[in-house]
Amino acid sequence: MTRILFVQLPPPRFLFEEAPSNIPLAAGFLVSALAMTGAAAVEAEVAGPEVVDTFCDRGLVERIAQGTPDVVAFSLYVWNVQRSLFLAAALKRRLPGVGIVAGGPEVTPDNRWVLEHPAVDAGVFGEGESRIEAVIAAVSGRGAFGEIPGTFRKRAQGVWINAENPGPWDLSRCSYPYLDGTIGPSGDGTLFLETVRGCPFRCRYCYYHKAFAGVRGYPLSAVRQALDMAYAMDSGVREVYLMDPTFNATREFSVLLRHIISRRRAEFPRLHTELRADLLTADDVDLLSEAGLASAEIGLQTINPDALQLAGRGGSPDKTARGVELLKKAGIEVTTGIILGLPGDSPQGFSATLEWLTRTGAYSIVHPFVLSVLPGTDFRAHAAQLGLNHYDRPPYYVRSTNTFRREDFRSALLECEESFDMELDYIAPPSLIDRGHGLLRDPDDADYVSKWIIDLDSSDPLRLLAEISVKATDPFTCWFRGRRFKDSETVVLQILRGFAEANPHTVVHVVLEFHEPPETSFFDTAIDLTSQPYTYLNRSFEPLYGEGSVVNPVFVLVWPDPGLSRVRDAVRERYGSVATVIWDQAHVNRERLLQAEPPSIVSWSEGEGGRRTEELLAALYDVHHTRPEEIRFREPMLQEQWDGLTRRRRPAALFQEKILLTA
Ligand code: SF4
Repeated sequence: MTRILFVQLPPPRFLFEEAPSNIPLAAGFLVSALAMTGAAAVEAEVAGPEVVDTFCDRGLVERIAQGTPDVVAFSLYVWNVQRSLFLAAALKRRLPGVGIVAGGPEVTPDNRWVLEHPAVDAGVFGEGESRIEAVIAAVSGRGAFGEIPGTFRKRAQGVWINAENPGPWDLSRCSYPYLDGTIGPSGDGTLFLETVRGCPFRCRYCYYHKAFAGVRGYPLSAVRQALDMAYAMDSGVREVYLMDPTFNATREFSVLLRHIISRRRAEFPRLHTELRADLLTADDVDLLSEAGLASAEIGLQTINPDALQLAGRGGSPDKTARGVELLKKAGIEVTTGIILGLPGDSPQGFSATLEWLTRTGAYSIVHPFVLSVLPGTDFRAHAAQLGLNHYDRPPYYVRSTNTFRREDFRSALLECEESFDMELDYIAPPSLIDRGHGLLRDPDDADYVSKWIIDLDSSDPLRLLAEISVKATDPFTCWFRGRRFKDSETVVLQILRGFAEANPHTVVHVVLEFHEPPETSFFDTAIDLTSQPYTYLNRSFEPLYGEGSVVNPVFVLVWPDPGLSRVRDAVRERYGSVATVIWDQAHVNRERLLQAEPPSIVSWSEGEGGRRTEELLAALYDVHHTRPEEIRFREPMLQEQWDGLTRRRRPAALFQEKILLTA
């Protein structure tokens, strides 16, 4: 019996409590395919959110290794490929003999760094259902690779690729993996539903249309079963993402919408999808609205006709604007995507796209992307010819083109921020709850630790570092407190360095709360010792911050609110470039509270607020309703009341914090 574990790691996130939408749909289909092909010698499982969405790097390795799988199969996407391969290498050391199989959009014949990675034994190109059984058998020594089409494997001489086309998988052979419980909706009640595979369009920066031959629909009976499940009153599903690329590309989409409408009983589930706005009619929008469409993504990309043509995109910006207007009139939120750095475009062309958007209002939210020259795409294959100078590691950003200099990307992004009043590098402060009955005193009392509060005046935290480096979550908060930072600087650096060495891909919030705070030089030293500029997360911010800059670790300074703008400005002037300063509101003082600048932390308790608490929170909400996450509370009861008031979070969507206090 071969035991195989499918692992899909989530995109990096900054708030542990908020569950990511990480649904291993592809892995679920592979397990179904193994079951229906009668692979009796295989026991397959998909790693659940209590593991993959919870633990830090080292913790994941331990949890996976404890199950002693024979084969671990990773679903590789641009946002998780580096971390997955890091884990694969650590698993090979921890479980000698384990087989590592790779699949997903990052596995393409031209993405050599993945294929050649020493931890990877074999992989599948494109949809894997038709070949997964043969690949698992070969990797686990029960069969031979022979001539399995569309796969690669390692040999002593290097990577051996079989580029033969395996032909399309018959979608009627497997049912949706939600139906037998192989996978479930994500913790925040999101369900990904794919009703077709393939895309009729041929955008040259996209891999999706290359991975699938033509457009194939799932049998209607299967889709109806999945909808019955999602729309059952007790399903817990609140958001359905229709994953079909360009949902309205085929006329069958109206048939699907009618099936949804016939099942809809309440506001939830709400729908989200990606549309071609230029193809929409008023009748289409009526149907979408009746089906509960809450938001749509529109790929405008650019209004520059030369760039559109070079990118293989048809469509008319004017028609797109009309389609977006119809959607917005129906109350549907439209996120309009634009791409920076397309061949044929220029900084002036990008500015023209921004001006066009401002003039037409063809958006609710504008989402600028720096062009990723993705493996397997036409742009990647012809990068030199198109003048695309790009990174060969995720997110594969273009660095310069014939018409964009390196420095143009930052100024274009800043222009975008200014045009649409947005902050592209906004990171919400972490939870700052630091009290309550649930605080742990011993890491052995919890299966994981999401926040470690260390009182440096009275404890020796180094003795716990090894254990915490395995029990920590991703993201993780390390909160140091004490009198004089200077006295503890060496210990703080030892802890941060030790943790980062074990967990280079884990997001860490470093909260510092000292009577005598650190010198600014500490932050440079800490970044030098701990940061990993090559990781996906840090590289994603590079166009804004510059090469080698990092956003992880995230530094937070808790500072008593001086109540005077002049003093706050001086503190921000000193620390603003290296840390987020959070103003500590220590006293129940209505006037001071309402003048509090975000981000702030409320330190008084519900007991101190007494009967005025509700009124104080309501008044605070009036001031901070646009960004309620900028107001944090130390006391869990108050944080809960605030979350209820702001309706930002639902309890079911939260991962439970586990806080260790070392004092
Ligand atoms: S970008 Fe979207 S529309 Fe274009 S080929 Fe890819 S999936 Fe299809």
